[in-house]
Amino acid sequence: MGVEDWLQGATPPKSKSSLIPCPDCSNPVSEWAASCPECGRRFAQVSTQGKYPALVAIAGIHRGLAIAIAALSLIGLVFVFASEAQTSVKVQMGVPLLVLLLLGPLFLWGTAELILLLIDIEKNTRDR
Ligand SMILES: [Zn+2]
Repeated sequence: MGVEDWLQGATPPKSKSSLIPCPDCSNPVSEWAASCPECGRRFAQVSTQGKYPALVAIAGIHRGLAIAIAALSLIGLVFVFASEAQTSVKVQMGVPLLVLLLLGPLFLWGTAELILLLIDIEKNTRDR
């Protein structure tokens, strides 16, 4: 189905979902399904993405920042060591950049993973 069909009012594709095993009968069920077609167990309908859009966005921003800081630090590091400055100056500028390069992205990426992990845990324990 193309974008044109979609704009003309056709039903948006509903099939962008993955199959998850039913907690009761292990039958694979679409994650958007309201209930299990096999045993009739009802599911909470709100997906993780729908319930925590802000947190998912924050995690995404953190990942983006992590990549940006790593790239900028790396460029700065290359620039410092390629320059004509004395070795002591290079070390004075290079070491902080190296620390930033290692710790900044690690911290940001870690918090992003933590947020997504907490959402996952919440999602997996909600129905039990
Ligand atoms: Zn079932």
